[in-house]
Amino acid sequence: MLRLEHLVKDYYTGDEIVHAIRDLTVTFRDNEFVSILGPSGCGKTTLLNIIGGLDNYNSGNLVINGRSTKDYTDKDWDTYRNHRIGFVFQSYNLIMHQTVLQNVALSMALTDVPKDEREKRAAAALEKVGLKDQLNKKPTQMSGGQMQRVAIARALVNDPEILLADEPTGALDSHTSVQIMDLLKEIAKDRLVIMVTHNPELAQQYSTRIIRLRDGEIVSDSDPVREGEELEDEQKPLKKPSMKFGTALSLSFNNLLTKKGRTLLTAFAGSIGIIGIGLIMSLSSGMQGYIDRVEQDTMTSYPVTIEDNTMDMSVLMSAMMDRDEQGEKKSYDGTVRSRAFADKLLGSIADTEKNNLTAFRKYLNSPAGQELKETASAIEYNYGITMHVYNKQAEGDKLVAVSPNGLMDELGMSDMISLRDQFMGGVSSAMPGSEVWMALPAESSLRDREYELLDGHWPENEDEVMLEVDDSGEISDFTLYSLGLMNQSELVENYKDLQAEKTEEITPGKPVAYTKDELLGMEFTLVPNSALYKKVGNIWVDESGDEAFVQEAVTNGRTLKITGIMKPRETSLGPVSTMGGVYYDRSLENWIRTEGKSSKIVKEQEAHQDVNVFTGRKFGDSA
Ligand code: ADP
Ligand code: MG
Repeated sequence: MLRLEHLVKDYYTGDEIVHAIRDLTVTFRDNEFVSILGPSGCGKTTLLNIIGGLDNYNSGNLVINGRSTKDYTDKDWDTYRNHRIGFVFQSYNLIMHQTVLQNVALSMALTDVPKDEREKRAAAALEKVGLKDQLNKKPTQMSGGQMQRVAIARALVNDPEILLADEPTGALDSHTSVQIMDLLKEIAKDRLVIMVTHNPELAQQYSTRIIRLRDGEIVSDSDPVREGEELEDEQKPLKKPSMKFGTALSLSFNNLLTKKGRTLLTAFAGSIGIIGIGLIMSLSSGMQGYIDRVEQDTMTSYPVTIEDNTMDMSVLMSAMMDRDEQGEKKSYDGTVRSRAFADKLLGSIADTEKNNLTAFRKYLNSPAGQELKETASAIEYNYGITMHVYNKQAEGDKLVAVSPNGLMDELGMSDMISLRDQFMGGVSSAMPGSEVWMALPAESSLRDREYELLDGHWPENEDEVMLEVDDSGEISDFTLYSLGLMNQSELVENYKDLQAEKTEEITPGKPVAYTKDELLGMEFTLVPNSALYKKVGNIWVDESGDEAFVQEAVTNGRTLKITGIMKPRETSLGPVSTMGGVYYDRSLENWIRTEGKSSKIVKEQEAHQDVNVFTGRKFGDSA
């Protein structure tokens, strides 16, 4: 039994208070089909969210099976949301690139249900909603009504006592709406269904009780619980989720996101896996409030990235997580068995799809895309331009390739890096240690939210770059080696000695300290990509490996100057520890592009479009 007693919910936006729910008292039976009607903005969604434990109330009480939720612990809320409540939304909230079966099975991701059992249950729930034959379809191949069925199956799969539906037919035509209502009516036979709807006819026809709301208050109730009416009030024992919702999220957000000590694997898990799982769970249980709160904090470290190729990492990640699943643990018994993984891996690689980014950008810039644009705090474009930046290394005349970072090459580790990049795709850019030459956000609002100016000034033109330090004014020596601000050759020698076992360990480099006067005005040289090619006979040859050639190109390169020192702003995620690096203004990319366009090699290619300037052969001619 569910009871709301003098419930009040206010929202504060700026100086304004919105009284979303005012002193609302109502009791729901364990088994009825309640429709909530009322004009837009009268508090229907707020009410459902409070009932579902997705939002808190200001005063009054929510009593569940005789127990006040005032003394609910986080764990109690997790259990309630995971086992007692199912949510269905107008907008379905499905993951479009996963199959119907996966969508439903994922809502059990953090329960202790073993994997094959999850799929069985998901299939059974889908059968119940009439989608037995569609398990392997993707939502994109379905009609609205079918998608809503999937969402209902997802809500039912944990067999909740209460199903909450927020305008489930709001996006459907009347014929399909009737089918969904039939389904909800069927479901309401053995549980409480509370549905918000705009449609009084459907409410009248299908539900057993209609409650009308206006301005956060009940104005009519067709079948209120009478005084003295018998209501079962026993506490049903419930299974606890094996990993708490909150735990899963704090694991990913608070621990994995601290840049410090992020290893390859945790970065991988943090950036795709656990956040992905967190988001998936949030979607299926509707933790919008939670998402909103964490979104701001995490979106800049892990923004939504749309690349020209899409690979579905979540399947891979859940396959990896399955290993630690409870209930399946076996120990070594003298037999070594195989564990299926290749299917998941190859499956997600084969699922790679091409995105039409040109069309997407057009859409964003069209009136239709305006709405999407407004919901994003910033939209940044990355054209994958490689910048060739060099610097003289500290106490030596040798040139250091600052960008792309040449240090790994020097250490003989470039294979490792390229392997990682291939595997991780765009994700690698979110990892520390690989590049030290990076782009500032194009939008200054985003820049100002992310970074704080410590000294000097922000770039005023494309020649001006920023040096990033951490909270205590430090930069990792790894970055300093990469930038040529510590002696790279010494480190490389040292490493080679270690490999050859001539020495036991790497001697830490002599600590360096640069004053701001030394740093502001410090120069790097950018060499346009085209300047690294030389015409030999009738073809152009990449000379970036030739020291003398590069030296010459650097003499003719463009000088860039550090004009400011900045640090990342502290976010709510705790102390930020950055590796440090140099950040350029995005206008520098325009310069590179223009420079490229006017170069001999590009002009030659444009003039003879059928002949590859690098090989002197016709394109497509592999001989
Ligand atoms: P309904 O679902 O009936 O259309 P809601 O429950 O969404 O109404 O909203 C009730 C009132 O509370 C509205 O005035 C709405 O603007 C306000 N409201 C809802 N959510 C928030 C929020 N997160 N912050 C501020 N005001 C809100
Ligand atoms: Mg609403």
